[in-house]
Amino acid sequence: MAIATVNPATGETLKTFDALNEGEIEDRLVRADQAWQEYRTTGFDRRATLLRKAADLLEADADDIARTMTTEMGKPLAQARAEAAKCVKTMRWYADQAEALLADEHPRAVDIKDSGGARAYVRYRPLGPVLAVMPWNFPLWQVIRFAAPALMAGNVGLLKHASNVPQTALYIEELFRRAGFPEGAFQTLLIGSGSVEMILRDPRVAAATLTGSEPAGQSVAAVAGDEIKKTVLELGGSDPYLVLPSADLEKAAATAVTARVQNNGQSCIAAKRFIVHTDVYDRFAALFTEKMNALRVGDPMADGTDVGPLSSEQGRADLEQLVDDATMHGATVLCGGGRPEGMDQGWFYRPTVLADVTKDMKIYYEEAFGPVATLFRVADLDEAIALANDTSFGLSSNAWTEDAAEQDRLVRDIQAGGIFFNGMTASHPGMPFGGAKRSGYGRELGDHGIREFCNITTVWYG
Ligand code: NDP
Repeated sequence: MAIATVNPATGETLKTFDALNEGEIEDRLVRADQAWQEYRTTGFDRRATLLRKAADLLEADADDIARTMTTEMGKPLAQARAEAAKCVKTMRWYADQAEALLADEHPRAVDIKDSGGARAYVRYRPLGPVLAVMPWNFPLWQVIRFAAPALMAGNVGLLKHASNVPQTALYIEELFRRAGFPEGAFQTLLIGSGSVEMILRDPRVAAATLTGSEPAGQSVAAVAGDEIKKTVLELGGSDPYLVLPSADLEKAAATAVTARVQNNGQSCIAAKRFIVHTDVYDRFAALFTEKMNALRVGDPMADGTDVGPLSSEQGRADLEQLVDDATMHGATVLCGGGRPEGMDQGWFYRPTVLADVTKDMKIYYEEAFGPVATLFRVADLDEAIALANDTSFGLSSNAWTEDAAEQDRLVRDIQAGGIFFNGMTASHPGMPFGGAKRSGYGRELGDHGIREFCNITTVWYG
């Protein structure tokens, strides 16, 4: 894939970039290694000062970088601004909390005197340069979610960003440099995915994190496994959104729309499968369809646009193929189902609701990465849970119910890394984020996230 900024709202190629050659990659690996040797010895105060400075700079740049993101991948500008603000918040959160999160631990109920020890504790030490392979869908957030805790833990970062967001990728490197992080503490590598293996096998690279598709995750994890290097994977999702009889249907339908079409429908934690109890199905289907149909599709830079284009022509083709396959096998289109009329430029697709979806259709099992919802009718909670779990993914889940017994049952039985009641899935800097099953492993954010790339060291005094 060419490394280029191509505006998805027009299809126009705005800027292309050369990939780094082997010598240039080597220079950056040398720099990362040297930076780490020094940076790992810095204290939390110093790291926090630098990260707070980066947060301040990002806050000041928010409007510009939001425009860059919208130009490169098509999300509505207001959502791009919100993404920048969330990054600022997360950087400040980790700057404030990292020292406490990584404080020495004195394990409970351990009597080391029995084993001849005088005292012992656990220290969280950094691992080294971490390679981050990141996607285009939240081009700032996905990176900052990794970088803020990694830098606070004393690691250094090497970013291989998606090939369609090079300007955002370069901005992030520059942001950390301007904030005063040592040369090499955070570097962007403009490379194609074919260069990832060589970098990951390099002994100077300690670990990797990847957010993206299943094939990309498999490929990176296989190489890392071969090299015995730690990985965190955050892959796709096909999150269920359960609506049960006690739900506030108006709110459930309004939130369902946002949960499905946020980021033009291209979010791993978007609700994708809407599983509705038969008692409230007709009413929910009518409300949801009406609201999906009313969304304004258009220029992502314009005020009032709800849904912009898909990020790439291939992304739209994949989505079209899923919808066409479903309708060919008998799905009912409640709204949308194709490109908006009169919009010939750019990779737009109408918000779509499909009913009567069956297992014969690809969309039953595959992730729909765009503004397409599937709607299912179920007879009871058992059927809802069975359907929710009938997927290879297990990222997050949503359920609308006021019934405490139902909530407990769902917390016990839903196979996912999150369950959000009476609201939509969201990430918070202080709460762990990640999936089960083929959605990946490991966690980002919170105290779990910052510890993923630490050498958890037993310190023992005899
Ligand atoms: P990819 O998974 O292909 O891209 C994500 C990142 O991985 C990019 O930096 C990409 O680089 C890199 N990459 C891709 N293949 C490899 C590989 N074999 N080895 C190392 N790195 C690799 O996502 P796409 O953009 O192609 O989207 C395809 C599908 O992936 C979507 O439809 C969606 O289902 C899923 N996806 C999920 C995301 C999530 O948030 N969980 C985010 C984005 C996509 P390059 O850009 O150079 O190819």
